[in-house]
Amino acid sequence: MEVLYKSTRKDSQAISSSEAIIRGISEDGGLYVPTDIPNLSKDLEELSRFDYKELAVKILSVFFTDFTIDELKKCVNSAYDNKFDNSEIAPVKKIGDQYFLELFHGPTIAFKDMALSILPHLLKTAMKKQDLRKEIVILTATSGDTGKAALQGFNNIGGIKVIVFFPENGVSKIQKLQMRTHQGNNVYVFGIDGNFDDAQSGVKKIFVNKQIREALEKKNYMFSSANSINIGRLIPQIVYYFYGYFRMIKASYIDFGEKINLVVPTGNFGNILAGYYAKKMGLPINKLICASNENRVLFDFLSTGKYDVNREFYTTSSPSMDILISSNLERLLYTLSGENQEEVKSMMEDLGKKGEYNISAAIKKNLRDFAGEYASEKDTNSAIDKVYKAYNYLLDPHTAVAYSAYEKYKLKNITEKEKYLIVSTASPYKFPADVLNALSFGSNKDEYAAIEKISFLSNTEIPLAVKDIMEKRIVHHGICDKNDMLKVVKETLKI
Ligand SMILES: *Cc1c(COP(=O)(O)O)cnc(C)c1O
Repeated sequence: MEVLYKSTRKDSQAISSSEAIIRGISEDGGLYVPTDIPNLSKDLEELSRFDYKELAVKILSVFFTDFTIDELKKCVNSAYDNKFDNSEIAPVKKIGDQYFLELFHGPTIAFKDMALSILPHLLKTAMKKQDLRKEIVILTATSGDTGKAALQGFNNIGGIKVIVFFPENGVSKIQKLQMRTHQGNNVYVFGIDGNFDDAQSGVKKIFVNKQIREALEKKNYMFSSANSINIGRLIPQIVYYFYGYFRMIKASYIDFGEKINLVVPTGNFGNILAGYYAKKMGLPINKLICASNENRVLFDFLSTGKYDVNREFYTTSSPSMDILISSNLERLLYTLSGENQEEVKSMMEDLGKKGEYNISAAIKKNLRDFAGEYASEKDTNSAIDKVYKAYNYLLDPHTAVAYSAYEKYKLKNITEKEKYLIVSTASPYKFPADVLNALSFGSNKDEYAAIEKISFLSNTEIPLAVKDIMEKRIVHHGICDKNDMLKVVKETLKI
């Protein structure tokens, strides 16, 4: 069945998946959503025997229906190869009686690699299909991990430029070094004097700026996005939920058809939304537990039905979740409102004007698949400490937020029989000093010494991604005011 893509905010004509991937975001400011979420319930048995790549081809093929199977196979094979340091791509680890879906085995050791190693190939293929002879400019706002994963994924790909904006004082030292030392002839990196929300709304504004669109047009450029607002990033994230579920069956942790709960450390709501899509597709998932850090806007939203960004912004040890405006929630609201574009548009307008919106009783009722929990910095640190002491397994701070949320949820819902799959989104090597500081014995402030210590404590080899930056020099020095992002883009592109 053909699946097309339409905006969450306006009832305009639906477009093909290749077009949606190229455009990234709809011109009316809405996000592209599939006209149908295909159901694979009947295929689960067969799919459970697939390896990661076969599963990826299958899942992408039911959403990206204007791509041929052959095209998708090529994209998948180029993405999930030995860039990943684990042949399973997304292994499930049993630690004590908890299950972790490790999504950090890619080149930048965070889960953004799962989608950003394939997005460039999807985009290139889409451009060919549409016979698009323009140069694409990928504008990216990052809370720390998307930036490097995009730089890596799009590195030296002809016909594509990448511009990354990150909060200068809102990412970890390793994250910053990963971006600032990245060499490539088509990439530009800037720190801004604001937080991730400033970066993201700045990028969204540039996207919908008519004047700049016209200026781009003249130079034969066009914008696209590597953020999870791009449907080409979201759909590949569905794959690992299926894969993780099937691994749990294979290891006899669960029976076929048994429901599980997912615990997802959440920022922009992309990862957990992919889990929700997996549920809608027929994967036996009971609850989706949305784990927040001290920026607990989603926790409050899920408990009250009011989304409210008028609050203090905290910089935490899980910087990739330091977000107040979770973009992908808009896609969920679209589904839960019964695909009511008017309603979504009015909520998003309220958000823009007042920094808050309320959902209808009907949407609130439909939110019952989700539960929210949050972890303070103290909770996060004690989760790292506790899990290490009990199992010699080191959690990164984002995964620790999820672990803490899992414990809280479980305590409140002891009658639920489901097993939990905790999504592990980054390697502890990406946040070495914070991880060490969380352990009740000894702390170590120096990042490089901390890396060695992590290796010693976890008895694992230092990943290439980290070794690499220790030797590289900084090549991107750009810093800009959050209000000057448009100017910087113009200067960079000479438009
Ligand atoms: C991006 C990120 C998250 C949050 O994922 P969203 O899709 O934005 O909700 C969590 N953990 C890490 C390590 C990340 O990089």
